[in-house]
Parts: sequence; structure tokens; C-alpha cells
Amino acid sequence: MGDSIGSEEGSRILGRDAQRNNILAARVVAETVKTTLGPKGMDKMLVDRVGNIIVTNDGVTILEEMEIEHPAAKMIVEIAKTQEKEVGDGTTTAVMLAGRFLENAEKLLDMKIHPTIITQGYRWAEEKAQIILNELAVEIDSKEDLMKVAQTAMTGKGVEYLKEKFSKIIVDAVEIVAENKEVDLEDIRIGKQKGLAIENTKLIKGIVIDKGKINLEMPGKVEEARIALIEEALEIQGPETEAKISVSTPDQLQNFLSQEDSILKSKVEWIKESGANVLFVQKGIDDLVQYYLAKEGIYAVRRVMKSDMQSLAKATGAKIISKLSEICPGDLGYANYVEEQKEGEESMTYVMGCKNPKALTILIRGGTEHVIDEVERGMKDALGDVVATLKNSMVVAGGGAIEIELAKRLKEFASTLKGREGLAVKEFASALEFIPSTLAENAGMDPIDVLTELRVSHDANMKTAGLNLFSGKVEDTLMQGIIEPLKVKTQAIASASEVAIMILRIDDVIAAKKSSGNSGKLGGMQGYD
Ligand code: ADP
Ligand code: MG
Repeated sequence: MGDSIGSEEGSRILGRDAQRNNILAARVVAETVKTTLGPKGMDKMLVDRVGNIIVTNDGVTILEEMEIEHPAAKMIVEIAKTQEKEVGDGTTTAVMLAGRFLENAEKLLDMKIHPTIITQGYRWAEEKAQIILNELAVEIDSKEDLMKVAQTAMTGKGVEYLKEKFSKIIVDAVEIVAENKEVDLEDIRIGKQKGLAIENTKLIKGIVIDKGKINLEMPGKVEEARIALIEEALEIQGPETEAKISVSTPDQLQNFLSQEDSILKSKVEWIKESGANVLFVQKGIDDLVQYYLAKEGIYAVRRVMKSDMQSLAKATGAKIISKLSEICPGDLGYANYVEEQKEGEESMTYVMGCKNPKALTILIRGGTEHVIDEVERGMKDALGDVVATLKNSMVVAGGGAIEIELAKRLKEFASTLKGREGLAVKEFASALEFIPSTLAENAGMDPIDVLTELRVSHDANMKTAGLNLFSGKVEDTLMQGIIEPLKVKTQAIASASEVAIMILRIDDVIAAKKSSGNSGKLGGMQGYD
């Protein structure tokens, strides 16, 4: 056991070495995100080769941007992505749990316990954990509680002082778009505007496009807007590819120009006939067309992003028109009014009172792009949590309370087991304590003291005792409103244990043949040992 064999050195790692190597790689990933956990977690600055910078506290963002080569480490990154997709929050937790499940499994491997026994124990522990989690979850019903969920998600994400306001924006937005407690997050548009301070972030019951009208002569506001969404350019297309026209006399030139003129004019004519008084055009708009449109009192925006066009279509009921000559009144959308608003240096177009009352935009403001992006990530975590909570109304106590109670009960369960699987269940249980101890550590507290105090409280049957990092004390975090969706925890534990089990079952890592587009080398493998 444990030898590298094969003709190419390092192309194959076997047995205990393979396990050790994989576990180490997974632990490295977990250690990387560990310092960001919780409200007192630190941020990371990610710098790519061309110097682009991201400053973030968000687990999945860090892992997505890092260059990770090791195959087992990549598997850990996958769980962060799954967590992000399924809930939108809890990515750091999921990755840390996976790392600790593996680290603890290694202790058992060192005791010569077979991986099959460990994985069996972990499976039992995971199943039991899901049952206990559901028993411990508490039902919530008020809007205030939903706001608390949003606030817990945003704590430590750089918007702490605004979390009352932001949590209201988030819950309001979710309530507007919810249908039978289901929310399609795509319905919540997030707009960004640089310049104003973060506190000017707001929820707008309409669609906001980050461009103003194209021509000063156009009206600043159009009431009872009949909106056309046009894909094609309102220009004479591709003059360079068209046949050459030789112009030798002034008459010919005049003729040619008026020909172009009439083509452009007819475009405006079609628009006018359709009854549209507001245009959103995905491509460009010729100066002359602008002039005619302004003369007709039509408000127009050009170079609108495709995703914005789609949002506008959904919000106003308009059909995106690909051939202007076929435009008809039935293609138009409707909004109470469309207005240009200038804030800071930028002009925006507000489309308000849309046909679809669920149309909304959260407009995030901030001084710099970095700030805006990090606020957006915090908001998205909170949105994910609120949506998950709305669905089944179940929450658990945060600040490590749920993890400690779960660990306690799993240890009780382990002692009922006869075989050595019980040892694995115990290790699984103590891995969960990694969450509260890290929350304490990241806040500069002594993790062992805090863990001890938490254990004592839970032994005294205080099921929701957790570390409140606002007060720095062990308290009933449920009462304090530090609450998280049940789904964050069930998902994190499910995917973390799944990947841990998968990695533990590997006893042979072979450099496979090159597959198309992919490097066949298991890069970085040797670097960890
Ligand atoms: P993740 O990516 O796992 O969501 P976060 O950095 O968002 O990581 O941290 C989440 C953890 O922070 C949860 O365990 C949550 O209970 C905890 N937490 C949030 N607010 C507080 C608070 N005020 N006091 C203590 N712990 C908190
Ligand atoms: Mg979070």
C-alpha cells in the first residue's frame, strides 16, 4: 500500500497515499475560505493576471475565481456551486464541513479503520442529521422574521449598518414576485448605479434601464407609454458591404441622399403607425431617425442589453420585434409612464406602472464598482435565504446553535451503535462544531472557551444557545433573531457528506488519457504531498 507505481513517476497514486493526498487538498480548500465565515469574517482580495480585483467575503465567489487544479479540491468547489444554486447561501459552511468531515475521517484511517466502515458511519450520521434538523427547525410566519433571515445573511457583508433597510427591500421584493410561496429569482432584477452612496439603494416597482433617452429633443416623460422593443438597428445597414454607388453630379448626390432619407423616414413612419411612443432598440439609431422620432414626440433608448429587452418584454407585455416592417399595434407593451431620471452623472430610464405588476428592480448604488458588487453578493445571499424560508417557513437558530445541538444529538446516536461505525458518527458530529468554533475564532475569541460554554448550555437543554457576535456572548440566538433557513443547513450537510464519502472511497488516482480540450495531467497533485 501507498506506493506510486507505473512507468511515469507520479502518474498514479495508490491506497493510503491517494487518500491522504485527496484529504489534504480538500482541507486546503476549506482552510482557504474558513477565515471569511460569519459576521466577523475577513474579506479576500482576488487579483487575476491582468490585475482585475474582486474584494469579497463570499465563499463561492472566492472558489470560483481561484485557480484550482487538484481534482479532489475541484470536487469540493463543486459543492459550493451546488449550494449556491440550490439555496444561494451557506457556501462557506458547506465547504468547511466537507473539509472537516475528511480531516476527521483521516484520524479514523490512522486508527486503521477501513474506509468502508467510515463511509457507512457517515451515511448513517447524515441520514440521522437530516431527521434531527427537521425536528429542531422552527416555523416562522411574520414579515419581521423573514427580515431577520435576510439580516442574518447580510451580517458581515459590508452593509451591516443598512441591514434594516436592505432586509425590507429584499422581503418586499420577494413578496411582490412570489406566487404561492414560490419565487423565480430571475423575476427580481438587480440594477447597479455607480456614484451615489449605498444608502440610496432602493426598490423600484418598475424596470430601470441604465441608459437615458438618446436625443435631447425627445420628451423627458411619456405618460401612457406604448412601448416597442426593436431588435434591429434603426440605421441604413452595412453601407460598406453594399454595392458602390458612383455619384458624379450634385443632382445624383441629392438623389442618393434623399433615397437614404426616405428609407429612414419610412422606418419612423412604421413606428408611428404602430402607435408606439416609446422605443427600446437593441442596436443603434441613426441621427436622422433620432431627429424624426423627436419630432414625433417619441422617447427612444438605444443599445439596450438583450437581458434588459427580455425583462422589458416580460414587464410590459411587449413582443421583441426582429423585423421593423412587420411591427403592429399588438406587439406593443404598456406602462403608466416612462421617464428619464438623471442621478449623479448617469441618466436612467424608469419604466413605471408596468402591465405586469410583478415587475421590479432593486437598484443598488455605491461609490465604486467593488462596493456595488459586494453589496450585490450580500443581497443575493439574503434573497436566496428569504426565498428558501418563504417556501417552507422553517428556520434554525444561527451562530452555531444548530450545529452544536446537532452534534450533541448525533453523539448520543453514536453511543447506541455497536460497531466501529459509531466512531465515524462521532467524528461526523464533532466536525459540525467546526462552525461555531470558527465563528468564535474569526471574531478573535477563544474557540475552545466558546465551544465549552456552548456545550454546557446545550447539555442544560438550551437547544438554541449560540454565539451572538453582536454581543459577543453565548445566548439564545433564536430569540435574538439570528436565524437561518433550514434549507441552508440540510443542503450543506447533504452535499458536504456526499463529497466526503465520495473522496474517501477513492483509493487510486490515475492520470487518465488526454480527453479533448482537457489537460489529462492531474495537475497540482504532487504539490500537496
Ligand atoms: P456562508 O457562506 O456559509 O453563508 P457566512 O460568512 O455568511 O458563510 O456566515 C454564516 C454563519 O454566520 C452562519 O453560521 C450564521 O449563523 C452566522 N452568523 C450570522 N450572523 C451572526 C451573528 N450575529 N452572530 C453569530 N453568528 C452569526
Ligand atoms: Mg452567508
